[in-house]
Amino acid sequence: MATHDDLFPYTFRDSPIGMVVMDHSGRYLEVNEAFARILGRSADELANRHFAEYTHPDDLPRDVELMNRLAVGEVPFYQVHKRLLDRDGDTIWVRVTVSDVVTLDNSVHHYVAQVEDITEIRRARDLLERRTLYDPLTGLANRTLLMERLDRALDSHEPRLATVACIFLDVDHFKVVNDSLGHDAGDTMLVEIARRIEGAVRSADTVARLGGDEFVVIVEDVMGVGAAKSVLHGIAAAVNQPFHVESHELEPSVSGGLAMAAPGLSAESLVRNADMAMCAAKQNGRACVEVFDESMRQSALTKLSIESELRSAIRDGELVVHYQPVVDLETHETVAFEALVRWQHPVRGLLLPDEFIPISEDANLVVPLGSVVLHEACEFLAARPHFTGRVFVNVSTRQIGTADLAQVVRSALETSGASPHQLGLEITESGMLLATASARADLKALTDLGVDLILDDFGTGYSALSSVLQNPVAGLKLAREFTLRLGDRGTGDRISTAMAALTRSLSMYGVIEGIETEAQFAIARRHGWQLAQGFLFGHAVAATDISLGLPVTPTPLLSEDATDVVVDSTGPVPRWLEQTARR
Ligand code: C2E
Ligand code: MG
Ligand code: MG
Repeated sequence: MATHDDLFPYTFRDSPIGMVVMDHSGRYLEVNEAFARILGRSADELANRHFAEYTHPDDLPRDVELMNRLAVGEVPFYQVHKRLLDRDGDTIWVRVTVSDVVTLDNSVHHYVAQVEDITEIRRARDLLERRTLYDPLTGLANRTLLMERLDRALDSHEPRLATVACIFLDVDHFKVVNDSLGHDAGDTMLVEIARRIEGAVRSADTVARLGGDEFVVIVEDVMGVGAAKSVLHGIAAAVNQPFHVESHELEPSVSGGLAMAAPGLSAESLVRNADMAMCAAKQNGRACVEVFDESMRQSALTKLSIESELRSAIRDGELVVHYQPVVDLETHETVAFEALVRWQHPVRGLLLPDEFIPISEDANLVVPLGSVVLHEACEFLAARPHFTGRVFVNVSTRQIGTADLAQVVRSALETSGASPHQLGLEITESGMLLATASARADLKALTDLGVDLILDDFGTGYSALSSVLQNPVAGLKLAREFTLRLGDRGTGDRISTAMAALTRSLSMYGVIEGIETEAQFAIARRHGWQLAQGFLFGHAVAATDISLGLPVTPTPLLSEDATDVVVDSTGPVPRWLEQTARR
């Protein structure tokens, strides 16, 4: 019968945990099968080899130190996580428990090590750590890791020697790229920008992505604001290089804000200051940089208060809609009105959209705001059954797709009883190019309803007309920028003529915007424009100031020198224009 002593060699051999007996120099005297398996070798192959041969070089000094402490009896055993190298040189993470074994007579000292493969556990932990601390798209630090590093940098820096700077970056026009070229192209661009930012800073600096198109860089050990500024300029220049995505050449740019650490300033506040500086830079135009100063906090507060005021203004009915006539250049009749929102502010008076539409977009208020305007515009139509023209309502890109615009329009039409055929929606190029399925579904549902889609401010975006026209566009409005160039006998005139001809040949109706003078009016006619809008024909006024019994356009429409205009009226005229009631 086998004794316990006889059993021991089998226990050693068959143990599922790797086991090794080493002499005092670290040479393997005996290894079991499980250990050999971890290293992807046979037990025979390992006999008499030295443990250092299979240990990751970076872990070796610590192993040697611990074994020495064990040898002198400083510790009874030790346990470490270390890296072994297998046959292919790949890393295997193991947990090793090493103890000193001494024979009773103290004649022989051995080490016994128990070795467990923890590569999988380690991998899972690394993955989890990556998920919680890194941005999955770019591999950069995420907000959590950024704040951790910034806290540490602020705690450990020596203010008299150098300081810490925080740079906040936002990609310019990222939404246009994402919306027009699709999310994959947007992602590719973000990854490339991340790489460029990393390439422009020292490896010790932390680059983080906060989500969306926002990046933050922590620059440690920087001598002062001047040095930090040159880092920022370096980043901006690195980003601003041509870049190809699908067959498009883009030249990405960033707006950047810089804030410097100051005594008592928390990591949160430092990032917020840099963010405010970035917003100030954006306001100065794209591809700008700004350094934080206290006045920026003040203007951010003002913006916040406008935001909250606007929220209640929408609820309390302080938004009003004014209507600007769109006239037929030949008959001088008003064939449509553009609905333009205004804010009747109790203290600041009547505010124009430029003062609050951008804020409403940032504050997610553009959907409720748009709904108010749509309902008003439909009420306007319903209250004027004899007016057979249209009302054009401006729609912000953010209303399309995500907020079920078609449903809002349907409800406005139903509550008022207005006809969908009298409603037109003015959408900008980026809105027409939205790539998401829900956006496409929204635009399709609107045309199915019988509502016209009109391309607004045409010529101010970057898109190819062909891609815009993939949508069923009924009309096109030429941006005011081109009207200002009418009569230049150059590009202005050529673009105007070409666009007038194009809209006609596509059986779309074309509106030229911003006609202020008789001369512009005459040229627009000569170029073949059918419809026009502008102060010459009338400003936007409250619905109550519009009486359809009277001409809406009191100004004389033709000047003396304009009598010889030749109107190209060969193209088809949309039927609703012919049918518009003469008042
Ligand atoms: P837009 O759609 O291009 O509207 C035309 C703008 O040009 C209006 O400015 C109008 O008053 C102005 N305008 C018209 N004729 C002339 C002219 O002869 N000369 C000059 N200098 N300007 C002229 P407004 O009302 O300030 O609106 C500005 C922009 O705000 C609009 O540009 C539109 O993009 C946006 N907007 C207006 N109402 C709404 C709305 O209800 N929702 C949304 N999302 N945006 C709106
Ligand atoms: Mg418009
Ligand atoms: Mg416009």
